[in-house]
Amino acid sequence: MNTLPKLQFIDLAAQQRRLRGELDAAIDAVLDQGAYIMGPEVKAFEREVADFCGAKHAIGCANGTDALQLALMALGIGKGDAIFVPSFTFAATAEIAPFVGAVPVFVDSLDGTFNMSPDSLERAIAHVRTLGLRPRAIIPVDLFGLPADMAAIDAIAARENLSVICDSAQGFGGSIDGRSTGTFGHVTTTSFFPAKPLGCYGDGGALFTDDSELAAVIDSLRVHGKGSDKYDNVRIGMNSRLDTLQAAILRVKLSVYREEIDARNAIAARYSEHLGNVVTVPHVPAGYRSVWAQYTIRLPRHCSRPDIQTKLSAQGIPTAVYYPLPLHLQTAYRDYPGDPAGLPVCEAMATDVLSLPMHPYLDTDSQQRIIEALHAAVAE
Ligand SMILES: *Cc1c(COP(=O)(O)O)cnc(C)c1O
Repeated sequence: MNTLPKLQFIDLAAQQRRLRGELDAAIDAVLDQGAYIMGPEVKAFEREVADFCGAKHAIGCANGTDALQLALMALGIGKGDAIFVPSFTFAATAEIAPFVGAVPVFVDSLDGTFNMSPDSLERAIAHVRTLGLRPRAIIPVDLFGLPADMAAIDAIAARENLSVICDSAQGFGGSIDGRSTGTFGHVTTTSFFPAKPLGCYGDGGALFTDDSELAAVIDSLRVHGKGSDKYDNVRIGMNSRLDTLQAAILRVKLSVYREEIDARNAIAARYSEHLGNVVTVPHVPAGYRSVWAQYTIRLPRHCSRPDIQTKLSAQGIPTAVYYPLPLHLQTAYRDYPGDPAGLPVCEAMATDVLSLPMHPYLDTDSQQRIIEALHAAVAE
């Protein structure tokens, strides 16, 4: 039997080995100084991460879900408002609409990129008007790290007078024609959950915007709707700050993030080169750059996904299914509206997607093992 070591799906330990000295020093500095809540590392990280993507403002918060909720609250979204979201995404993208009293409306995806379909979006907007809902905002998701089709979505948003909240929990640092995620739409949200491309060692999140007024409102909302200080409350807010320790850790990780994005792209290119003849590999449109939060293939019709996963697992190769069921078919979401033409693309994707190990420290030999094992599994 196979005696090769088990591979990691995302190897956070390899990154930690590389950065451990700097991480220890950064954590020690926070402990020495004792400003655990909104310490100087938070401000410093906000400045650095805003500069990284070219946004005017970055506002740290507790996690990527809160970031989305803060964006909706800051834009005054609530009862009677319709929020257009892809159905093929992590639940948080849709979850925050009912949180603020709004209605999530499900939109189909594009076959090649896994991202929101502009045509489906237009059908969904026209449909909710007939239901008496007010179209209010679009939340495109940079799924698996690839920026959404922002040119098409921005054009629809401008024509329909909708706000655009980019959910870049998986896509921070990606770009379209050199313009980074974090600078599209009215506001962008991201997550620093450990497994995201830029992750901390706990929960964390941020919002990005060029709108100084909106940034000030978000800054207030994350600290209980504070006014001149936290005991002066000018609006209903929440408690959603980025921890000082996490900010200190993120500053270290951000310092190598550009290099890691390059490494992720080299690994993705190698996968696509060697797998494109046996499975459907992800499509990256010209001018787009992904950060490859996941490398997700689509299996040919003749393959049983559980069989392929079992065969790879037997050789120490972990895989994952993102996502096994689109949101519009989930118990909690199936009564909300969606594209009246149906969502056939995301329903098909849910049956045939498979994500392979992807992280910046995946070495060539390990990757070769994955490629060969997948070739053999698909051929059987
Ligand atoms: C991870 C994720 C979120 C939520 O982030 P948390 O930090 O876990 O709250 C939101 N949207 C998408 C697309 C995600 O992948």
